Amino acid sequence: MTVSSPLPETPDPADAAPGEPTLTMLNPDFPFSYDHYLEHPAGLGSLPEQAQGTEVAVIGAGLAGVVAAYELMKLGCKPVIFEAGEIGGRLKTQSFAAAPEVVADLGGMRFPTSGKAFYHYVDLLDLPTREFPNPLTGAAPSTVIELKGQAFYAEDASHLPPFFAEVAQAWQRALTEEAELEAVQQAICSRDVLELKRLWNQLVERFDDESFYGFLSSSQAFQELSFEHLEAFGQVGFGSGGWDTDFTNSILEVLRVVFTGADDHHRSIDGGAQRLPVQLWKHRPERLAHWSPGTSLESLHGGAPRGAVSGIHRGSNPALPGGGVRVTEKWGRTQEFAAAVVTCQSWLLSARIDTDENLFAPSMWTAIEKSHYMLSSKTFVMVDRPFWRDIDPETGRPVMSMTLTDRLPRATYLLDEGPERPASILLSYTWNDDALKWLPLDASERTRLMLHSLAKIYPGVDIGAHMIGEPITVSWEADPNFMGAFKNNLPGHYRYQERLFGHFVQEQLPEHQRGVFLAGDDISFTAGWADGAVTTALNAVWGVLHHLGGTAAAENPGPGDVWADLAPIRLD
Ligand SMILES: Cc1cc2nc3c(=O)[nH]c(=O)nc-3n(C[C@H](O)[C@H](O)[C@H](O)COP(=O)(O)OP(=O)(O)OC[C@H]3O[C@@H](n4cnc5c(N)ncnc54)[C@H](O)[C@@H]3O)c2cc1C
Repeated sequence: MTVSSPLPETPDPADAAPGEPTLTMLNPDFPFSYDHYLEHPAGLGSLPEQAQGTEVAVIGAGLAGVVAAYELMKLGCKPVIFEAGEIGGRLKTQSFAAAPEVVADLGGMRFPTSGKAFYHYVDLLDLPTREFPNPLTGAAPSTVIELKGQAFYAEDASHLPPFFAEVAQAWQRALTEEAELEAVQQAICSRDVLELKRLWNQLVERFDDESFYGFLSSSQAFQELSFEHLEAFGQVGFGSGGWDTDFTNSILEVLRVVFTGADDHHRSIDGGAQRLPVQLWKHRPERLAHWSPGTSLESLHGGAPRGAVSGIHRGSNPALPGGGVRVTEKWGRTQEFAAAVVTCQSWLLSARIDTDENLFAPSMWTAIEKSHYMLSSKTFVMVDRPFWRDIDPETGRPVMSMTLTDRLPRATYLLDEGPERPASILLSYTWNDDALKWLPLDASERTRLMLHSLAKIYPGVDIGAHMIGEPITVSWEADPNFMGAFKNNLPGHYRYQERLFGHFVQEQLPEHQRGVFLAGDDISFTAGWADGAVTTALNAVWGVLHHLGGTAAAENPGPGDVWADLAPIRLD
């Protein structure tokens, strides 16, 4: 929650009784209840007999690709997954060499309990989760905020000086006075989709050209305070940490996060986030059309997905709709499919994959090319034990805390596996300009500089003396299969976003542009959250079902069936 004691904390959606109104990631742009759709006993729909067993290409085995393939398999299609790297994509978990049970989540690592579509799969697989130690939460025993050389220690927000409460209250006021926070959250809780759309559509029209920083600095609440308040807000922000590296992004991106509780009540997956896509790949669903019991994605693929894709073109098979979609693999194998679900980051469609230009309208290409990506870097080290819980005899406090700072590391998280067991520290988690500073440096040099900064904050603590083995580091922008962490729209980008998200509804498209369905958090309205990977995958599944002549059950309409009523507002 925000760095203030006086503010009411939103209840954890995980604690809500079934049917009780609660905050969810019900997206205000397209308020379709994906969680209800997934849970409905009628399932996601059915294919005509002759379409059963149809092969559908799924490019990318990140969460979106695996979810799309899993649901297509349940419907009776034969998904054929192509993957350039590992199953999991940006849900990537790496073990430390000396103690494989100590893991580092290099991409997604903390998942808001309001992300009900995401947790549908976590629950299906029965994956254990735990509260993530975000600043000032119960899971972080203590937090230190260090700004301009001055450190503040807090076990909860009430221990912080009043200055921080003023900052938090200003943020809450800005949201309430300028952006209808309470009304929007009430509409989300009660799933009043018409009211939600009415409120949100006005905000889209008003704020599409406004940056996060512009929103804050022009708000009455922050205008009544000093620049230092605004600066401190950027450093410590709300929920999971500082947000000033998002200051240039569209305020709409931030409002979606706050409105849907996405930055609150985070949990991590025990053993690492990658377990979710990997176990879904192995899972044998109870209800399967067409396939025999016990079939899984793994068994359908004979144990491994196909390789990296180097080309996507219009096919020439008269038996397939529109001639089908031809997919070429890096090492030359080519196959034509009735449809293709493309889940890799959209920049890759022009920068890394030879994609037939005619598959998308020029306006779609503009949207693909104009997507703005965040940079992100993380560096983890393994330590012999959670020494940070040792009590400093002089202060009576733990020797080290979860740390937010304006120094190079920006945010340091302490990840505990129990007393007297090896543990890990996420020494630094950074975004954009802060991540760019690390880009040219190797793991050792990054670690050296991070330890140097932390030594200024904790002069008596020798972190290096506890470290074992080599650090694990990542810069997502340096990986050619990703080219960035994830999309985040700049001011004026709403129109691109609306095109990308809505592309799965293809009736209005000319035939030569049908049959390729984009999915993944890249094209979702909540990029940077795995819930968006799931929901856009479900859109693509609906698109493929429709493309192959199938339908959703009348009692459980799919996202495309309610499109006319709920579609995101189209700006002129
Ligand atoms: C640093 C970071 C922190 C994050 N933190 C969080 C968080 O805390 N909580 C949260 O909910 N979300 C978080 N996310 C977002 C979350 O990780 C993503 O939403 C999710 O993993 C995206 O899944 P996806 O399937 O859409 O895309 P991806 O995981 O990117 O999957 C696309 C796949 O396509 C593959 N591919 C690329 N090119 C080709 C090719 N030519 N042929 C075949 N395959 C190809 C890639 O290898 C990849 O596996 C974070 C992401 C990052 C990067």
